[in-house]
Parts: sequence; structure tokens; C-alpha cells
Amino acid sequence: MKYYSTNHQAPTATLHEAVVKGLAGDRGLYMPEHIKRLPKGFFDNIDKMSFQEIAYTVADAFFGEDVEKEALRRIVYDTLSFDCPVMKVDDNIYSLELFHGPTLAFKDVGARFMARLLQYFIRQESAGQVDVLVATSGDTGSAVANGFLGVDGIHVYVLYPKGKVSPIQECQFTTLGQNITAIEVDGVFDDCQALVKQAFLDPDLNTRRRLTSANSINVARFLPQAFYYFNAYARMKALGFAEKMVMCVPSGNFGNITAGLFGAEMGLPITRFIAANNANDIFYNYLQTGRYEPKASIQTLANAMDVGDPSNFARVYDLYGGSHERITSFISGATYSDNDIRETMRECYARTGYVLDPHGACGYRALREQLREGEVGVFGETAHPAKFKEKVDEILGIDIAIPDRLAAFMRGEKQSVPMTRHFEDFKAYLMA
Ligand SMILES: *Cc1c(COP(=O)(O)O)cnc(C)c1O
Repeated sequence: MKYYSTNHQAPTATLHEAVVKGLAGDRGLYMPEHIKRLPKGFFDNIDKMSFQEIAYTVADAFFGEDVEKEALRRIVYDTLSFDCPVMKVDDNIYSLELFHGPTLAFKDVGARFMARLLQYFIRQESAGQVDVLVATSGDTGSAVANGFLGVDGIHVYVLYPKGKVSPIQECQFTTLGQNITAIEVDGVFDDCQALVKQAFLDPDLNTRRRLTSANSINVARFLPQAFYYFNAYARMKALGFAEKMVMCVPSGNFGNITAGLFGAEMGLPITRFIAANNANDIFYNYLQTGRYEPKASIQTLANAMDVGDPSNFARVYDLYGGSHERITSFISGATYSDNDIRETMRECYARTGYVLDPHGACGYRALREQLREGEVGVFGETAHPAKFKEKVDEILGIDIAIPDRLAAFMRGEKQSVPMTRHFEDFKAYLMA
């Protein structure tokens, strides 16, 4: 399978090239040239298949031409060492729990898959170390760092905004050591993302080192996220509720929802999507006006969605041929203030007993407000509420238990490299 750039200026790439490069030479994002439709028989029987079996079928459609079957099967099965179950929360509303992985957020799926696929490709070469650069507003850094921890031939640099990531998030990528280096940038997430994007375009750096990205722009991270949309459908079908299923995705950089949209192109029968935003309402405004106007990001309670210029908008736009009409007929939006998020978490907990995290709360609320007669809604519960313990405890007046795998990170010692938001400084550090 070949991959083209959303900017249509760079040459097409093989999967291997797209995974190693991350971003295309023209700053565009890679898109697969074809999206295979899966046969009706697959969907008829999907409720009898395991998550891993379903995921392997989906992975084979994307990557089967480029990765040996047995190797791909191993990558998929190793990646999914945990489940992504659906849980009933409310009348007609289900939570797709994406937080059962090692760092308690959905990004574990893409990060674990990418680490294994990248390792598969670099083992076929003898070209030396690959450096992974990743900008994080919180959860990406921990998922990528843990996905790659101890993987031979790969060093990971995690760039994060100083003071804007919760202590629990921070310890998940600053305490690991080994092949993981945390870079603490004096700026906001968009500065971190800009540093990473600029590094890929810098000729000196790219002669000296082999750089790749593990942000949600990398095809090896974002496509595997389709796996759990198929699983959600399968589990809802088993319950008899997959007839008019609406998928609602708390969104920031839009990698997660884009993978779901790819699933729909493969034939997954989801009626429509909702992109739930916090106060960073760029996509919401695009849906209303047809104009995409990036802004500086605003800090919110749902900080992993504090994105002012969502990278994967380019993929959504490309997928629907730039048609605002096609996009708005399949995807609706929502935007919530911190007060809305608090109110929703309290209301849901009081009435159902379900503890939402601030990101999932946006998804749940959008379903409560927008679900139509006869539809069933599934929202992505994108992180475990204990990842945001200080906020969740305060908002709900509870003392939420910290799962063991999270507590283990908090006992480690923080190590980080301080950095300004100026590219020259970052470049000098990497060149040294
Ligand atoms: C990253 C993240 C999001 C946003 O996902 P995108 O793919 O960037 O849209 C939402 N919730 C949580 C908990 C996250 O970590």
C-alpha cells in the first residue's frame, strides 16, 4: 500500500517510509491510497469474535500487504494485552473504556502498536538508531514512552509543557530512564508540537540523526485506533444494540476520531459521529461556519484536549474531499466549558454512580444532549479518572483509588531536561 500526503506535494511513500518519517516532506500527513471495505460476512459474525481476532482482520486490511502475516499477528496480539470493554452507564448510553492499558489511556493502543511496527521495520535495516520525537499535552508522552520503553535501537524524546501536565501524568514519562528522555519546555503544548514539526524539516538535524514522530500524525499510531471502534460495535451487537449506533469521541488533535472515521469507510456500520470538544472549539466552529481558523490553545480541565490547531483535521478534510457538506452530514460537534464538565461529572456520578474523567465527561454530555429517538450512543472514556485524581476527587468529593500500575510510576524519581521554546536551543541540544 502506498501513502500520499494530504498536501499532495511530496511523493507517495511505502508504509515503512511513512512510519519512519512520520510527517511527509511537504508537511502533510500521510493517508493510505486505498481503504479496503471489509466483507459483509465479517460484520455478520463480528459479535462472536474476540477483540484480538477483530483487530487482526482490521490490521490486515491496512498493513497486510507490507508486513508478513505472522509478524503482524504477533504485533496485534502483543499490542492488545488488555481489553477495551463497553459498559452501560445510562439509558441508551455506553462507555467504551479505553483505559485498561499500562498508562490508563487510549493512546496505549496506538503507541504499543507503533513501537512494535517500527521495531519490525528497523530490524530489516542496519542503519542504526532511530530517534522518536513526541510532543505531549499529557497522555501521549506516557503512552509513547511506555510503548517504546526498552525497545532496542530506538531512543524517545518526550517534549512537554512545563507546569501544564498533571503530576500523575508527568511521572509516567519522567521516571522511566533507559531509552526515554523527558524534555521540559518553557511554553504551551503548541510550542512543543511546533518544535517537533520544525525538527523534521531541519536539513542539518536530518543529516545527523534519523528522526521520526510518534504523535498521532504517524500512521502506525493513528490507524490501529480503528481496532476498538470495531470492538465497540461487536460488543454492542452482542447486546443487541448495534442497530443505530452513534459514536462520540472526546477530541483534541483528532487522531482518535479519525481512526473511527476510517473504520466507517471500511464498512463499520456506525450511524454518525460526534466530536466532543472542551473550550478549544476550532473544529466545532468549522462545522458551524465552514471555516477552519486555528487559535492558541486554552488550558482546561480536560487538558489532553487543549489543542488550538488539531493536526488530524487535515485527514478528516482529505477523507471527505474537502466537502463541508459531507463532513457535517456525518459528524456533529459539541464544545464544553470547565463548568459544564464539572456539572456533568457530578450529575452522572450522582445519578448513575459512574465516575467520568474530564475528557470522557465531554463525550457523555454530548450524547445526553444530541442522541435522537431510537439511537444508542457509545462514548470513548479516553482515560481512567484516577489519572486526574486531584481534579476528580475535588469535583466529586470522593477519594478515588489509584490502580497499582499507576501508583508504581509515582514512586519513581523525576528526571528531565529543561528547554526553551526556541527551535535553535532544541536543535543545539539534539546536535550535541
Ligand atoms: C489524547 C487524549 C484525547 C484527545 O485525543 P485526540 O486523538 O488527540 O483527539 C482525549 N482524551 C484523553 C484522555 C487523551 O489523552
